[in-house]
Amino acid sequence: MSLVVQKYGGSSVADAEKIKNVARRVAKAKDDGNDIVVVVSAMGDTTDELVGLAYQMSEQPGARELDVLLSTGEIVSSTLLAIALGDMGYKAISLSGAQAGIRTDTAHSRARILGIDPKRLLRELKQGKIVIVAGFQGVTEEMDTTTLGRGGSDTTAVALAAGLKADRCEIFTDVEGIYTADPHLAPEAHSLPEIGYEEMLELATYGARVMHPRAVELGEIFSIPIRVASSFSDNPGTMIHGGMSMEARNKVTGIAHDMDVAKITVVGVPDRPGIASSIFQPLAKAGISVDTIVQNASIENVTDLTFTVAKGELKKAMKVVKPIAEGIGARQCASDSRLGKVSIIGTGMQNTPGFAARMFQALSEEGINIQLITTSEIRITCIIDEASIGEAVRALHTAFELEQAE
Ligand code: ASP
Ligand code: MG
Repeated sequence: MSLVVQKYGGSSVADAEKIKNVARRVAKAKDDGNDIVVVVSAMGDTTDELVGLAYQMSEQPGARELDVLLSTGEIVSSTLLAIALGDMGYKAISLSGAQAGIRTDTAHSRARILGIDPKRLLRELKQGKIVIVAGFQGVTEEMDTTTLGRGGSDTTAVALAAGLKADRCEIFTDVEGIYTADPHLAPEAHSLPEIGYEEMLELATYGARVMHPRAVELGEIFSIPIRVASSFSDNPGTMIHGGMSMEARNKVTGIAHDMDVAKITVVGVPDRPGIASSIFQPLAKAGISVDTIVQNASIENVTDLTFTVAKGELKKAMKVVKPIAEGIGARQCASDSRLGKVSIIGTGMQNTPGFAARMFQALSEEGINIQLITTSEIRITCIIDEASIGEAVRALHTAFELEQAE
């Protein structure tokens, strides 16, 4: 008998009919002779709606209350699924994150899982029950409810798979797996049969929204193979795992894009020790995460410093940076919020020359101006005008022959 952890995302449990569809799929996996733990997200846009309600009460809702509020979304979907399975004649029980033994630190709205105490869960499984765990939440030592950050149910699923030493972890969503690019932008994009953890992590971090990066990271650390597939079909989807074949290693695996990029440039910064820290420390203190940072070579001891933040953080970031820029005698502080980034990702890049050149050529042939470039060992990212993202994704998909990949 295998122990299987299945996770169903918000769009897969968006209404009563869809929850019944999930119940049938879970029942089938149980009938196949497996022990089943199911993790669910909140129904459809519930979490957004709950956030909206909280902000109607206050411009700054308290983090503790907000976490309790948001955790209820997953409680609703988990109980409804348990009720649906019960109605079909299956023994099923819903558990909150706390009841499932998911212990976290106290960082509300972005809590980290410290450990899992699986006693209760194992007891329920032993009694032949299907256990349904509310995703995206845990509990502190003080028994306060925490949430794991938006999209955190994937992390719940992989963490449970690790904690229970499950045989399989399956993430069900509304698309057919991990695609070579967003099919809304590149019609030739197709679902990959398999992908390595490293590449998946870069894809997820740089814009592919199918899986949460933290969940991929956990999967890699605990060597949990993760299958990502559609809850609306029986196609096998994509296996994320560590044992990639050599053949798959020498090319671009996928294109990621992200529209959520804003840029701040501090022009005419004196080039001396301590300047970067005087700008980035206050940003970190304000809780603003900075992505790409580029500093130009200085001419006559003056340089320009450019960095990017999420669009929603631009105003706040400018408020922090402007007075500092004035204080250090910078000439100007400019911003642009109409940017996006496009990335090519593939493990073969680190040992093979020419990937960057091919990427830049493909973009230049479309007349797309590159504003900033960053790289990792297996990724090249260009920051460009947001209006050109669609063209860029299509051009790169063609340039790296992703439509031919099988
Ligand atoms: N419901 C939460 C969210 O929308 C968690 C999740 O869906 O994974 O972010
Ligand atoms: Mg969701």
